[in-house]
This record gives sequence, structure tokens and C-alpha cells, in this order.
Amino acid sequence: MLSPSFDYAIIGTGAAGFHLAIRFAEDPFFQNKKILILEKDTKNTDDRTWSFWEKGATQWDGLAEKKWDKARFYGVKDCFNISLEPYRYKTIRSSKFYGHAKEIIDSSDRFTMVHDEVLEIDNHLIKTKDGAYQSQHIFDSRISKVFFEKKKEHQTLTQHFLGWFIKTETPVFNTDEVIMMDYRLRWNSDTSFTYVLPFAPNFALVEFTLFNEEMIPESGYEEKLRNYISAYLKRSNYTIEEVETGAIPMSDYPFHKHHSDVTTKIGTAGGWVRPSSGYSFKNAERYSKKIVENIKNRRSPQKNIAKSRFRLYDSIFLRVLKERNDLGPEIFQMLYTKHKAKTLFRFLDEESTLLEDAKIMLSLNKRIFRKALLKSIF
Ligand SMILES: Cc1cc2nc3c(=O)[nH]c(=O)nc-3n(C[C@H](O)[C@H](O)[C@H](O)COP(=O)(O)OP(=O)(O)OC[C@H]3O[C@@H](n4cnc5c(N)ncnc54)[C@H](O)[C@@H]3O)c2cc1C
Repeated sequence: MLSPSFDYAIIGTGAAGFHLAIRFAEDPFFQNKKILILEKDTKNTDDRTWSFWEKGATQWDGLAEKKWDKARFYGVKDCFNISLEPYRYKTIRSSKFYGHAKEIIDSSDRFTMVHDEVLEIDNHLIKTKDGAYQSQHIFDSRISKVFFEKKKEHQTLTQHFLGWFIKTETPVFNTDEVIMMDYRLRWNSDTSFTYVLPFAPNFALVEFTLFNEEMIPESGYEEKLRNYISAYLKRSNYTIEEVETGAIPMSDYPFHKHHSDVTTKIGTAGGWVRPSSGYSFKNAERYSKKIVENIKNRRSPQKNIAKSRFRLYDSIFLRVLKERNDLGPEIFQMLYTKHKAKTLFRFLDEESTLLEDAKIMLSLNKRIFRKALLKSIF
């Protein structure tokens, strides 16, 4: 029997797959295209919280739990406020994003959504647990196994964390500002910090995060969270309403090498996570737009999705943090004191000019950065 045939197939409806599907749904260019979406999970739970920065009003405002104009940074010894203007920091619960994307997809007849697990891709043929499909081009968000085998040969750290959504008996959180990084409590001397998203005066996500090479036992994060809440929030009566945990690869591994003429890797699998920060929600939106533009202009979908010079900066940054993980608090404090948040956000969004990049990299004018630059180039 012939397998059903499609113009495009998207494997995985996480941030990347759904962002791309939304782009396909919103553009009349694709109105006569047949698009297959394959996902192995039901995607109806809150499996993560996405935070990101944006300028002005956007389609995500209606989904956002909260938006903030200000942030606070606690270094090892001192602290300061950060104005985020003209950007706002926003948080979306994943179930709202999934629900929103599903509504858009369901209202368009160009999509076929199938709940199935992809086992293998053989040229245009997608073999799944329950069947097989043909597609002219495939967008695949499965991370290649090769990454896990080879990641140690590259500059690779992991951003790993445990967060508690806590409700306190009495108000404690300042809902006007997020705590971007708080380095007062650390895991040994590693790059590790607490991050606080205050949704209400008595409700927040408090997350203990590490950027390093080794995972830690669950009890390690829990102890830090308990200590943070007691020492800095000065609360002993609170309930943990929900838990968020995750591990995001931060790597200069060449994910793009897994593209082929027929398959474009997307999301984490395509290197869409900015390696120096672990953020990727907005990259998924930006890169999906580029894919659509490429298709409309008859270019390969994967052409020039990411700008390579930013990969070099990230590689340098990862090399420094890998060799001197204890320098994290100093480096991030330097970045936030020497530059406006809007400049850093432009840099992280890959929108900065070469001059702005140079100013940022030179502001980290340490011998170790110069050495890392030379090692990354040669
Ligand atoms: C807990 C957590 C919090 C995060 N917070 C932020 C944040 O605040 N801001 C930010 O910018 N980034 C954040 N990230 C990083 C990044 O944005 C997310 O990891 C993002 O979800 C990555 O998108 P993705 O589409 O690549 O992967 P995913 O969202 O993981 O989606 C991959 C999808 O593919 C499906 N799939 C996998 N294998 C198969 C298969 N064989 N067949 C069919 N389907 C398959 C999976 O079920 C899944 O739905 C966070 C990550 C985590 C884990």
C-alpha cells in the first residue's frame, strides 16, 4: 500500500514544531499545501515555562502569565536594578502555547495531525510506530543520538534546574521585577544562581539553576531552594504548588550537520537554543519565519537560519565557563553593569551590529577570554 504523501512534515510539536506550524498556517502561500504533523505525546500538560523578552505588543501578550519592565541582579556581594526598556520580560506556560497552536492548526485544513512516534527517516519516507508517510521536505525536532555521543568533544555545558511554584501565606514578592540572577547561594563555586518570577505578591516560580558539566542530585537543588526561601525570602510557611525541572544543552556542537536535502533539523535538534544563554523560544519564532521566507523564495529551507558569528562568540563564552566555571557570577555581573539590557538583548537576539558585538566581547577583557578566542579560531 502506498504511504500517504505530503508537501511538508513536522516531527515534534514542541516550541519549534508549533512555531513553524503557526507560520505555515498564517501564510496564504501554504494554503494548498498538505502538511503532516507527527507528535508522540499528548502535549496537554504544563511541561515547561517559557520566558523571553520582546519589544511592543505581540501575539504572545494574550497568553502571557505576566510581563515585567524591570529586573534585579544579585551578585555575590552587591545588587542592582536593571531597566529592560524598551523590552518587556514575559512568561508563558507551555500548555497555553500548545493550546493556542492547536487551535490555529485545527482551524486550517492544510494540516493532518497524527499522534505517533517517528522511528526512522529514510530519504522522503518517515517510518513511525504505527505506519509510514512520504513528505517532500521534513522538519525534524528529534535530537540526533550523535550529539550525546560527541558532545564532550565540543564546548558543551548543560543548563539544568529545579523550580518550585510556591505560594506563601503572606505577601513577599515584588511583582514589578523579576530576579534575573541571584548568585548569593551557589553550588560549590560553580556558575549557579536562583531565578525568581513573581506572578503575584504571594506566588512565584523560584528556580535553582546551574550552567556546568555535571548534573547534581535532586536533593542538591531542593536544599538550595529551601535555603534561598528561608534566608532571602524569610519564609518558612509556604506550599509547593508545582515543580519544573529541565536540562538544556548549551553547546557549540554543529547541529546543522544533521540537515540533509530532504530534512531540516529544527529546535534544540537544529541548534536553535542560544548556547550561551539556553533561551530559544524567540529563536524558534525567528528561525521559523526564516524557513518560511526561504521556501517562498525557492531557497533551501535551512539556508542561513542562524548567523555564524554568534556561534563563535558562544563558543568562546562556553570555553571560558567550561575552564573557569567559578567566573560565571563575575562575567554576568560585568555584562549587566557595563551594558544596557537592551544592548545585551539585541546581542542575544542576533540583531546587534559588529561594533556592538566588539564592545560586548571587549568588555570581558580578561586574559582567559583572549585565550579562548584564539583557541576557538585556531
Ligand atoms: C523545563 C524547561 C524550561 C525552559 N525554559 C525556557 C525559557 O524560559 N525560555 C526559553 O527561551 N527557553 C527555555 N527552554 C529551552 C527551550 O525553549 C525548550 O527546550 C524548547 O521546548 C525547545 O523546543 P524544541 O521544539 O526543540 O523541543 P521540545 O519542546 O522538547 O519539543 C520536541 C517535541 O518532539 C517530540 N518528539 C520527540 N521525539 C519524537 C518522535 N520520535 N516522534 C514524534 N515526536 C517526537 C516531543 O514529544 C516534543 O513534543 C526551556 C526548556 C526546558 C526543558
